[in-house]
Amino acid sequence: MDFAAYVRDIEDFPKPGVTFKDITPLLKNPQTLKKACDALYNFTTNLKIDKVVGVDSRGFIFAPMLAARLQAGFVPVRKKGKLPYNTVSEAYELEYGSEILEIHTDAIEKGEKILIHDDVLATGGTASAVCKLVEKLGGEVVQCNFLIELTFLNGAEKLNGYQIESLLQY
Ligand code: AMP
Repeated sequence: MDFAAYVRDIEDFPKPGVTFKDITPLLKNPQTLKKACDALYNFTTNLKIDKVVGVDSRGFIFAPMLAARLQAGFVPVRKKGKLPYNTVSEAYELEYGSEILEIHTDAIEKGEKILIHDDVLATGGTASAVCKLVEKLGGEVVQCNFLIELTFLNGAEKLNGYQIESLLQY
């Protein structure tokens, strides 16, 4: 399956100089939606996973589908101020300024095996902050998987020590 044919480049979005990887063509097609989910699921063969953590907001598309297939729970990590219950938070640097991510304090039990999912791995700042949140709650990150990895931004280096999988590399 040529997934790349269903990812659209949008130049200068959301700001000048960024080429945004738009996955909505892949999502609206019934075959690519199903096959992408299957392929992400296949990355987890032989892994025991208790919870799938999805990252605000496009990580929320596939993470719950994967969780249901893995018979695991789904946990949202959200930008600051969006989660209603008690949270722990982690700040991380963006190209300009910084961002704060949060997770509910009761989302993960100590020792649980965690799969982290997001749509795109770029610099790795987001995913590495999510790994820290999971570990603050005592979870063990067993894999981080992505639809797309922008290899020229070296996100995998920032996630050194974690198992990384991606469907498409640019
Ligand atoms: P980073 O923290 O730099 O790895 O950025 C990853 C986060 O930003 C993910 O949640 C992505 O959804 C989003 N992101 C970063 N770069 C892109 C891009 N070129 N196209 C689409 N989403 C992106």
